[in-house]
Amino acid sequence: MAKIGFIGLGIMGKPMSRNLMKAGHELVVFDIRPEPMAELASEGAARGLSPRDVAARTDMVITMLPDGPEVEQVILGPEGVLEAARPGLIVVDMSSISPVVARKVGAECSKRGVEFLDAPVSGGEPGAINATLAIMVGGEATTFQKMLPIFQAMGKTITLTGPVGAGNITKLANQIMVAVNIAAVGEALALAAKAGVDPEVVFNAVKGGLAGSAVLNAKAPMILSRNFKPGFRIRLHYKDLRNALNAAESLSVPLPVTSLVQQMLAALINEGEGDLDHSGIVRFTERLAKVEIKAQA
Ligand code: NAD
Repeated sequence: MAKIGFIGLGIMGKPMSRNLMKAGHELVVFDIRPEPMAELASEGAARGLSPRDVAARTDMVITMLPDGPEVEQVILGPEGVLEAARPGLIVVDMSSISPVVARKVGAECSKRGVEFLDAPVSGGEPGAINATLAIMVGGEATTFQKMLPIFQAMGKTITLTGPVGAGNITKLANQIMVAVNIAAVGEALALAAKAGVDPEVVFNAVKGGLAGSAVLNAKAPMILSRNFKPGFRIRLHYKDLRNALNAAESLSVPLPVTSLVQQMLAALINEGEGDLDHSGIVRFTERLAKVEIKAQA
């Protein structure tokens, strides 16, 4: 069994840590918020004092943080993971960040003899709780093989996608498909609702056909019951589409539809809705259409 450091104990990191403990691994955890540390300590994890302390006490460190700046701070910054760098240490960032930042962090790790993987995930909070995440990994095959049993305690579909950075490129592709799908669901169900056709009936009628999708099945029930508790926050999806648009710009890839949906997310954040679940993207269309998508009693 491995000694694993886990940094970032939010919606995703907390259940992922729990699954590692359930699989019998020894955990040292850290977050800037004391509450999730106390909760995991009561379940058997040791508390780290800083990212450096976590890395000094473990063989591998996993980070699950909001975005690139936090990942850079935790791994490269003062009292960061690399202050405890030594050959043999493995660092795995499972946050969704810019592939450019992933490559920068990977290069800094490599200079210090530390192996690095970027390994963002998909599957949301339910996937994190049930250990069914899709994990998209970038890095060396030898490091991937060492981490595979650890990934298997957190996820189900685990894919080595290429060198460091490829994991986050794959995740950006995933996030484009999810955001655009939710926006389309919003427009389709707003039309049905304003036409007086029960949007729940429409959902049940189409879900088995070509319009059916994992996104539709996960998000339509939340929209229809007006439950926008996150899940995956609108502000985090805005960040992912920003990273996608930046990567696309550097590669001369026009992404007009992604760009439009990102502007919808920006407007929702201005409405104070950045901490709603991303199924709340439909609220943008609802405002324009002056209709609410909900199941008829
Ligand atoms: P979250 O905001 O719930 O959790 C982030 C955690 O990081 C918080 O507990 C926060 O206190 C901690 N943190 C922030 N800065 C820190 C620092 N400097 N040092 C230590 N801890 C710090 O976010 P989340 O929903 O768990 O998402 C984490 C990552 O996973 C994001 O990159 C997100 O895009 C990605 N992701 C989320 C979901 C989802 O459904 N929530 C799904 C797939 C991927």
